[in-house]
Amino acid sequence: AQARLAHAQRMEALGQLAGGVAHDFNNVLQAVRSGAALIRRRAADADVVRHLARMVTDATARGSAVTQRLLAFSRRSELRAEPLDAVRLLESTQEILSHTLGAGVEIRVETACDLAPLLADKGQLETVLVNLATNARDAMNGAGTLTLKAQSEVLARGMKLDHPVNLEFGSYVRLSVSDTGCGMDAETLVRASEPFFTTKEPGKGTGLGLAMARGFAEQSGGGLHIGSEPGRGTTVALWLPVANVDAVVGIAPALGDAPSRA
Ligand code: ADP
Repeated sequence: AQARLAHAQRMEALGQLAGGVAHDFNNVLQAVRSGAALIRRRAADADVVRHLARMVTDATARGSAVTQRLLAFSRRSELRAEPLDAVRLLESTQEILSHTLGAGVEIRVETACDLAPLLADKGQLETVLVNLATNARDAMNGAGTLTLKAQSEVLARGMKLDHPVNLEFGSYVRLSVSDTGCGMDAETLVRASEPFFTTKEPGKGTGLGLAMARGFAEQSGGGLHIGSEPGRGTTVALWLPVANVDAVVGIAPALGDAPSRA
């Protein structure tokens, strides 16, 4: 029953993904098509043609952005997990972000001592953290406090969690990105990690950031949890397994093999 449920969820995610791609691509093609038609009609007016050509270039750039992210999304089986030191990882992420987020965002790092190494693909994890931080900056309109945090979490049988991260029992490192931004209303929170769900203006958001973060966490043998309060801020937490021999052997190689969610 568990496997069937996981399969059904996978098919649903794929269906959403395909629907979203079709929708986004249709918009891009529509723009290219009407641009080209107008260029044909207005060929005599150089200024108009230049303007239309720019519109076509912009539309195709949006198209490639979608395919790039889609490629990254489908390249799930190529994760190369290795033991990582969360403290060093967050410090190097802070360094990257200090150059990219702008002066208005204060970046804090809080790490527990004695953290066990976690098991994940370093490059992909950094990409996910930078994406989460970019969302945080957007939510804060470029000014506020962003906190990167690492702590250890142990899930034991019979334990009650105060939120629904449906994971297998074991040891995890929880990496979180918190902001003091606008937060999400209930409907946005429920849909936030759906592929292609975005509340941003066309061309500004692809709606794949959180979907990719969730896919990455689940395929790494962990999970993702989003907590948010409108007007106060958002915390996105990645739960990643602690690197030990069992975890290395048991790491899920395919989309459907990640621990299932209820
Ligand atoms: P995108 O950023 O391209 O819209 P995401 O999947 O990263 O795609 O996010 C989906 C939506 O979730 C965003 O459009 C936004 O409404 C909401 N969201 C994501 N991160 C945050 C955050 N830190 N604070 C408030 N809302 C957020």
